[in-house]
Amino acid sequence: MTPNDIFWQLFARLGDYRQEMIDLQRQLVSRDAVGPGEGGPGEGEKAEFLAGLLKGWGLTVENYPAPDARVVGGQRPNLVAYVPGKRPEKVWVLSHLDVVPPGDETLWHSHPFQLRVDGDRLYGRGTEDNHHGIVASLMAVKAFLDLKLTPERTVALALVADEETGSNYGLGYLIREQRWLFGDRDLIIVPDAGSADGTLIEVAEKSILWLKLTLTGKQGHASRPQLANNTLRASAHVIVALETLHQEFPLQNPLFRPPESTFEPTRKEANVPNINTIPGRDVFYLDCRVLPDYDLARVKERVAAIGTAVAQRFGVTLTVEPVQDLAAAPPTRPTAPVVLALQKAIREVYGREAIPQGIGGGTVAAFFRQEGLPAAVWMTVTDTAHQPNEFCTLSNLVGDARVLAHVFLDTE
Ligand SMILES: [Zn+2]
Repeated sequence: MTPNDIFWQLFARLGDYRQEMIDLQRQLVSRDAVGPGEGGPGEGEKAEFLAGLLKGWGLTVENYPAPDARVVGGQRPNLVAYVPGKRPEKVWVLSHLDVVPPGDETLWHSHPFQLRVDGDRLYGRGTEDNHHGIVASLMAVKAFLDLKLTPERTVALALVADEETGSNYGLGYLIREQRWLFGDRDLIIVPDAGSADGTLIEVAEKSILWLKLTLTGKQGHASRPQLANNTLRASAHVIVALETLHQEFPLQNPLFRPPESTFEPTRKEANVPNINTIPGRDVFYLDCRVLPDYDLARVKERVAAIGTAVAQRFGVTLTVEPVQDLAAAPPTRPTAPVVLALQKAIREVYGREAIPQGIGGGTVAAFFRQEGLPAAVWMTVTDTAHQPNEFCTLSNLVGDARVLAHVFLDTE
């Protein structure tokens, strides 16, 4: 049998797994895996279920738990399961076990922790983020096992904790404590973001800089403004003046959408509770997504300088503090083997040309890239992650499982 014949066997088999996909989603959705930082029980129960399932399929499953006293049992699970391939190099598919809280439950049309099937759609907290990645990768593996086929590279499924609150107990922990797991020649896929047509392969991220700007003036009666220093008016002028950041950091990089750095005023803290008092203190925040070419210290310096010059005109002082300061990891090359393997597979399964791109930042792939490991973030999304009535579609699950199966056979 040619590799191509083998792929079409897997392709057909994965089309027969729709009921298995629904059943697995149902099991996963019913196990609340909200992290302890967000008031949940953690990933323990879900990990135990998945470890049992994978062992039942005959796979070796390792656990590298991160100590965390906030959860029952005192540790956060990080599972790795292997399917031996013809080569020792691995294809990693890294998905995360934790989910975000349901949020306002009155906005849900069904119970967030009970799967609801409506035609092609599977509703429930976590169905897309990140059960989509778990189910697609497990089903791709199951097709190999059921058909008694050997993948080209060893397939390694990583099911990690704590993605939603910083990965300190998840991939961050694995990279710190078990760095040896990941080899330079491994292909690393993170199915945790993408586009609706499956053509976005995320290879680069912008740096993230969140700044808190505090303006301090003088509170007073609104009828006698000459005796006060109004910080709300000063804030408004500072916000307008900060528009010049776009001219000060003008580089464009077509890898990213949007191609330029962005500087958005976002949160504004409450000041005075009543209308007839001039506020003597105002706090707002700036969310900057900066191209990797620029130094974040320089951005912060310019924000402080521009803001201070304006604030002084109103007799107000300004302090600028970083809330998050995360320099971007070096991008994965658009011609890295993992990107090429995904492009080939997406072409075969979906008949579309996928494009390596950069995004505004914030995926776990950055942990790999900081280590010089080329990782690609890809999946076909409904873009309902973190929303009420989150869903994924069966057709995306089948399609993405086929793409992963194709990558598992890749011989380049
Ligand atoms: Zn996610």
